[in-house]
Amino acid sequence: MNKLIVANFKMNQTPIETDEYISKFLSLEKNFKSGIIICPPFTSMYLFTKKLKNPKIKIGAQNCYFKDCGAYTGEISPKMLKSSGVQYVILGHSERRIYFNESNTLIGEKIKAALANGLSVIFCVGENENERTKNIQNDVITNQIKKSLQNIEKIDLKNIIIAYEPVWAIGTGTAIFPSEADKMCKLIKDFINKNYNYSQTKVLYGGSVKSGNAKNLFEMPNIDGALIGGASLDAKEFVKIIDIAENI
Ligand code: PEP
Repeated sequence: MNKLIVANFKMNQTPIETDEYISKFLSLEKNFKSGIIICPPFTSMYLFTKKLKNPKIKIGAQNCYFKDCGAYTGEISPKMLKSSGVQYVILGHSERRIYFNESNTLIGEKIKAALANGLSVIFCVGENENERTKNIQNDVITNQIKKSLQNIEKIDLKNIIIAYEPVWAIGTGTAIFPSEADKMCKLIKDFINKNYNYSQTKVLYGGSVKSGNAKNLFEMPNIDGALIGGASLDAKEFVKIIDIAENI
């Protein structure tokens, strides 16, 4: 099965830097079979929607609010994203949970609003180091899913991708053992299947994925792709990871 590769640029790249990135990416681009989603900062999105013509490559946002419009200074609505040519939005990323105090309930409201506006959601879950040390990661993850998806219908699940991202592996350079990532992705799939009777959910792994560890992760049967932060900022490295995914 083709893997899904998602780039999360986080708060990196000015539009000029994005322009350079796109030129480099286009010079390396091949006839990709994988699904590719690039999530740049809001200020660079228009460059991707304008310059990338390959229908296999979709553009995503890294966040949105749950209202359509109004007096919410600084926020961006799913409706605005959709009308800007964006098709995906990352919600529930651990950096939003940690630095912006986003709760499972708020994330759930954002997910609902994004879906209602025709966006697909990349919903991030994952335990922190302390929770892993206490060996409560399974409960943490199923609780995040239960709370944020409590108002979601089975029919919506086809538009939700789940990214398992252990917080302790994000941006550290050290990924989780592939077999452990596989176990966690399977846990998520089994939980969705049991609670929604839906078996098609794609589950990605995220946390220090790079060309050096991608093969071992992508070979795992329950890992449907990757959410890639740091390594996606280098166009050459990102294309290398896509190539690895295509050769599994
Ligand atoms: C992320 O931010 O979602 C992520 C996985 O980052 P990194 O690849 O840099 O660990």
